[in-house]
Amino acid sequence: MSTEERSHVSLVVIGHVDAGKSTMTGRLLHECGIVDDRTIDKHERESNALGLHPCSKFAWILDGLKAERERGATIDISLWKFASSTHDFTIIDTPGDRGYIKNMITGASQADAALLVVDATVGKFDVGMGREGQTREHALLAYALGVKQLIVAINKMDDGSVRYGEMRYADVRDEVANYLKKVGYKPSRVAFVPISGWRGDNITERSRNNMPWYTGPTLLEAMDGLTPPKRPSGLPLRIPIQDVYKIGGIGTVPVGRVETGTIRPGMTVKFAPSGIIAEVKSCEVHHDDKSEVGPGNNVGFNVKGVSVKDVRRGDVASDANDRPASSVSSFEAQIVVMNHPGRITRGYCPVIDCHTAHVACRFANIREKLDRRTGKVVEENPEYLRNGDAAVVTLVPTRPMCVEAFSDFPSLGRLAIRDMRTTVAVGIIRSITKDEVDRTD
Ligand code: GDP
Repeated sequence: MSTEERSHVSLVVIGHVDAGKSTMTGRLLHECGIVDDRTIDKHERESNALGLHPCSKFAWILDGLKAERERGATIDISLWKFASSTHDFTIIDTPGDRGYIKNMITGASQADAALLVVDATVGKFDVGMGREGQTREHALLAYALGVKQLIVAINKMDDGSVRYGEMRYADVRDEVANYLKKVGYKPSRVAFVPISGWRGDNITERSRNNMPWYTGPTLLEAMDGLTPPKRPSGLPLRIPIQDVYKIGGIGTVPVGRVETGTIRPGMTVKFAPSGIIAEVKSCEVHHDDKSEVGPGNNVGFNVKGVSVKDVRRGDVASDANDRPASSVSSFEAQIVVMNHPGRITRGYCPVIDCHTAHVACRFANIREKLDRRTGKVVEENPEYLRNGDAAVVTLVPTRPMCVEAFSDFPSLGRLAIRDMRTTVAVGIIRSITKDEVDRTD
């Protein structure tokens, strides 16, 4: 079986806490044969014994699988892989909103599309959509981070306040569509699917009995309708470093996820921003030696003659002989301000999270204010930015840093601006200025 020929789509599940994300994801994985009946029965017995809501078994599955994984895993993210008739999917599970932001920024996977789960229940829907609700925040985040394909699951259609009602569905759909338009999405390109994650309506099978009025795609069909992104092949190696270990008898072992390219023993790697060059002695994935490690894998690689102090989290490893990564003197980012109590002016110096890097960067210039929806410039050199504003800004790192343009390396080109322990803004990097003349390409 050739996996290269099948298209791959990463889908991040977003939405307000308790919207039913885990239940829906568990149900989907079960209906697609990822979780067998025995496991479901076991989890059902456990959740019954605990007196949990009957639909808990599906959320329980996810939590159970997670716990099993966490024992052996070094990665702090849950990825579920399964194949439909057309695509190979990776579902990015997002526990809580903090996790969501971090997962998308750290780029443990490049989200190609988002699945927004909305609770249609009377009362709860308004909370999710309200000022403090995560429905809005997550949709805005996804858009600002460059995730342009969206599916909306209108969930809990079985609830007593909804009763599979077509009118209720239409009201909820229209309100969400209106908001998405303000965020920047084109509602006509978004698939809206009324579902019950608990009962299994319109997940993989059409709900003929409960929602005969609905003629659109099931959730799985909507997922199959997603367009796989064009992934330029032949991209050079990039590994954002997560940790560096000193292992007795072996030496220095940086660890990170291969985002693009491949790493192999014998290769000369360059670390940016330091510029340190070293030979790779061996590569390991889950304690197995490998002769080659490609994108998507978490790799530990042993480098010759480098001290643990020379490499650190936030560095990027690349092939020294093939378009290596560089330190940047500045970069231009397109951001959306989400949560700042006042005005952001030139000179503002918050922390930027980009891949695994965490560096304070100064707003050297606020170049353009944009219309969030159309991307058109509405003001040149605005004096300040505040909540809701979209803008193009020039950022200058306060210490050496390596980032990339989103269009070249999506997972190295998404950023979050953090200050006062909240996410002030998010965005993508439009271009970088390297701070060394270093053109091997
Ligand atoms: P998450 O926080 O978005 O992952 O939500 P969960 O999947 O944990 O579900 C939150 C709660 O919503 C659960 O405890 C269930 O009681 C309820 N729930 C989830 N899915 C459904 C559904 O399809 N129908 C109904 N009526 N309730 C649901």
